[in-house]
Amino acid sequence: MSHQPRWRDGNAIPWPLGKILCVGRNYAEHARELGNPQPAEPILFLKPATAAVDFERPWPIPTDRGACHVETELALLIGQPLCWADAAQTWAAIAGYGIGLDLTLRELQNRLKQAGHPWEVAKAFDGSCPLTPFIPAAELGDPTQLRFTLELNGRLQQRGEVTQMLFSIPQLLQTMSHHFTLLPGDVVLTGTPAGVTALQPGDRLQVTLANAQWQGQVAETG
Ligand code: ZN
Repeated sequence: MSHQPRWRDGNAIPWPLGKILCVGRNYAEHARELGNPQPAEPILFLKPATAAVDFERPWPIPTDRGACHVETELALLIGQPLCWADAAQTWAAIAGYGIGLDLTLRELQNRLKQAGHPWEVAKAFDGSCPLTPFIPAAELGDPTQLRFTLELNGRLQQRGEVTQMLFSIPQLLQTMSHHFTLLPGDVVLTGTPAGVTALQPGDRLQVTLANAQWQGQVAETG
């Protein structure tokens, strides 16, 4: 059974979690740190709902398939259908904002990319998307100015700002909606800023978004 996201106040979100739509290389500095060119169009991929876990409960990472990197991303909870959306529809369709981790088996992904194969098994595996609770859109300030951070074991590791995205939130949602119909309960991850790094069992994480903060932990194994 998939994780069911909550609102920040603990109340249930009225839709079951759907698909998780993601974008690669949406921040210039992150594209550079992995030696990738900046894309001319958003690079889209999906995670199934079974990838989601609760950020606030210890979650395991795979330890038998090479490095598991953390990518800290602004997550959008979709509350209205979007299909061939225009820009105005996109903002109205966002019901809430949270943080999602796009966990990535980097060595496996690199091997698959080099071979020209799809890389779902490196990005869409069970547990590959810890999600925080969501802040209702009406309780946030200007979403075009949002900032977020990851502290890993007490050290600042990643810092992102919506203003630094290569493709803006409306551009992302419009492009996504040309390929995939977005439905209430879907979640969109908007790309990671620079600072991705490998996680270890027992690592402690704190993420912030606007005035909210949440604590998470990689489960101890063995
Ligand atoms: Zn990512």
